[in-house]
Amino acid sequence: MKIHEHQARDLLASFKIPVPPGRMIESIHHAADAFRAAAEGSTTGEVVIKAQVHAGGRGKAGFVKIVKNVDEATAAASFMLTHRMKSPQTPPEGLEVKKVLVAQAAPIARRPAGGSEEFYLAITTDRKSRRNILIASREGGVEIEQVAHDRPDAIIKVPLHPLLGLQDFAAREVAFRLGFRGRQVSQAIHIMKSLSRLFIEKDCTLAEINPLILTPPDEQHPDGQVMAIDAKFSFDENGLFRHPEIESLADHSEENQAEARAHRFGLSYIALDGQIGCLVNGAGLAMATMDIIKLEGQKYLESRGKSGTAPIEPANFLDVGGSASEEAVTEAFSIILSDSRVKGILVNIFGGIMKCDVIAQGIINAARGFKNKDGSTGFKVPLVVRLEGTNVEAGRKLLQDAKGSLPTLQAATDLSDAARKVVAAVAG
Ligand code: GDP
Ligand code: MN
Repeated sequence: MKIHEHQARDLLASFKIPVPPGRMIESIHHAADAFRAAAEGSTTGEVVIKAQVHAGGRGKAGFVKIVKNVDEATAAASFMLTHRMKSPQTPPEGLEVKKVLVAQAAPIARRPAGGSEEFYLAITTDRKSRRNILIASREGGVEIEQVAHDRPDAIIKVPLHPLLGLQDFAAREVAFRLGFRGRQVSQAIHIMKSLSRLFIEKDCTLAEINPLILTPPDEQHPDGQVMAIDAKFSFDENGLFRHPEIESLADHSEENQAEARAHRFGLSYIALDGQIGCLVNGAGLAMATMDIIKLEGQKYLESRGKSGTAPIEPANFLDVGGSASEEAVTEAFSIILSDSRVKGILVNIFGGIMKCDVIAQGIINAARGFKNKDGSTGFKVPLVVRLEGTNVEAGRKLLQDAKGSLPTLQAATDLSDAARKVVAAVAG
């Protein structure tokens, strides 16, 4: 689960990590007030307007703007709330912006050698070393992906102790390697240690500050102040039950709509890029089904000398679970069918606690309820069904009797047969 930047800033502040104050608004009518409030405490009088969407790359896309008066603030907020934000991190059509953050703009110190004092700081789990690690770089800001690609040596990685978290000596070493000096060092250590504590306490999968900045020296901070001006968090959904305060931050309008719908029915659904919709019970069987679709898809294309063309692949991962109701199965089907890229469906059920007749009835209900664009009912995409296990005879009989509503139905004898049939139907 992800949260918005304005929520991430509040979370950082609750762990005593310095962030400039700001306010989230959802209407341009509040832009002027929010601007005045933010400008009041600012030494430079500058305010930053930032689109709140679950994707980065806003700066380069023009969705982070520094403004100096009410008119500029209103214009920037109004632009963002009426345009879709497109960046390499969004879908091609971009994301609708419904919320905007209006915050005090922090001045960023310049480096003597040129450039600004922007750093990257993150904690995440490194699967290779099976540890949580701190990732830091002196080259933070909007080019971090490029830096990681071109100059991997500019990225510092330090494992966290499994029990003790980020230890003082490790944080101190990173602070020096980032170039912090004098009173900046203890500020940076405090931020790194707080971030790693936050990561563990809130069951994060990612806790990222980019950029972490250094402000120019002032009376209160003779060596400048180290602070966070952008942050991104992801939380482990399996841990959310322990954190109702985090769960309440979820913005369901930012999620993939099909995934959110599936979640409400207790289905595990992940949208993918292929053409073959899959409905399977059990995560292991679902993975195997996806593998075999890819395998048979590749074999099909190679046998026809078309291996250079677009691959035939699963359109989704869908596990209806061990004991889905008829209603949930019906919903699962509707979700798959609402994806216009789906050119064929493979149902692969090994009935155990899940009964084959329940699945069959769900398929029939979905088919009868489904409306095509031309107004007719019943779905027209090829459907291949492989049923085995509990109540399989009853399930097959139900499907047989409902043949009129399922004109495209093909029965399969086993998984490979099912995959071959659906691939041929989609490619043919
Ligand atoms: P992102 O592009 O979506 O990651 O958005 P960021 O919030 O990281 O902003 C992108 C860039 O805009 C930062 O790297 C900064 O250079 C600049 N920026 C953002 N907020 C401020 C601010 O408060 N003050 C100043 N001086 N620059 C800012
Ligand atoms: Mn950023």
